[in-house]
Amino acid sequence: MTDAPAPLVLVTGATGFIGQHVILQLLEKGYRVRGTMRSLSKADGVRATLAAHTDRTDALECVALDLTSDEGWAEAMEGVEFVQHVASPFPMSQPDDPDDLVIPARDGALRALRFALEAGVKRVVLTSSMAAIGYGHGNDGKTEYDETDWAPTELVNDHTAYSLSKTVAEKAAWDFMADHQGEMELAVVNPVLVLGPMLGQDDSASLQVVSGLMNGMFPGYIDFGFGVVDVRDVAALHVLAMETPEAAGERFLASSDYMMLREMADAIRTAHPEAAPKLPTRTVPTWLIRIAALVSPQARRILPELGRRRRANSAKARRDLGWQPRPGPEAVADAAGDLLRKGLV
Ligand code: NDP
Repeated sequence: MTDAPAPLVLVTGATGFIGQHVILQLLEKGYRVRGTMRSLSKADGVRATLAAHTDRTDALECVALDLTSDEGWAEAMEGVEFVQHVASPFPMSQPDDPDDLVIPARDGALRALRFALEAGVKRVVLTSSMAAIGYGHGNDGKTEYDETDWAPTELVNDHTAYSLSKTVAEKAAWDFMADHQGEMELAVVNPVLVLGPMLGQDDSASLQVVSGLMNGMFPGYIDFGFGVVDVRDVAALHVLAMETPEAAGERFLASSDYMMLREMADAIRTAHPEAAPKLPTRTVPTWLIRIAALVSPQARRILPELGRRRRANSAKARRDLGWQPRPGPEAVADAAGDLLRKGLV
């Protein structure tokens, strides 16, 4: 009698920061993985990146898919037991037209679900975001959010095109599931700012916060912070959300510590003293940014964020899935170390 082949997992966004870590952890756990990318011209690079971290790349195949087209999805789902739908546009800056992000994010999520359902997939895990929870609320007086909170589905208040795209996509996914009750399972992971080491050279917009601290993008320490989580822990949560029966039908915030910019810099300085000269030295008071905002669009953009605290409560993932993320300063320091080692800052 021959052993049954390991379950096959389709992972969208195989070229991305988080997607590659999800693939690595799945391979290391013995799964077979089908990774998707817009163009197969990137397949050799993805394979080489992963081969530097695992000897199981023979269990990885690559296929071409775009979030904006049906082409290739039906074939990509053949034989698939689980889908990790990670891909979504995550640009460094916001487009003029929010639909540039909203449409691919929403239609991509719906394509992943529709083709998964048709192929008899057991469970889809969707990478959503804290953006679909804690943004767009304006001055609601809240400083901490959990999975019961939803960002609005219109571009209001402190929503951005990106946070709107994540909200609309996740909402569309849950609506789809409500129309197909009992036919397939969905679990959602909502990370805060994802840091930690890249597997290769392809960074994500999120790492810009760390590289920005180290290359002068911030004029100094402003009254600005983020929930932080390490990419290795985000990938682990994706796997837990896929494997744990009780995760079906649930969303899980992925967050470790909330860190102010100055605390991030302290974590970098402690772990990598050689980076100290690259880090800001002064604090920029909010009143100064208010004055700068009169003439600077960049200052105007950050103004609503100053003093705003959006903490993410990730007790649910810790309690229900036994998820244990590493501390935020480690995620920051390892991102910085990786950027330094690769000469990217
Ligand atoms: P990356 O930019 O590294 O990855 C995004 C991935 O999505 C890439 O593989 C990209 O492919 C793919 N993609 C974008 N548009 C399309 C499209 N039209 N068709 C097919 N693929 C597409 O970012 P991350 O890895 O950080 O982000 C991955 C996911 O995590 C996204 O859903 C993002 O919203 C979410 N997220 C990220 C956070 C973070 O801080 N990094 C926080 C919360 C959520 P290509 O290489 O072809 O561009």
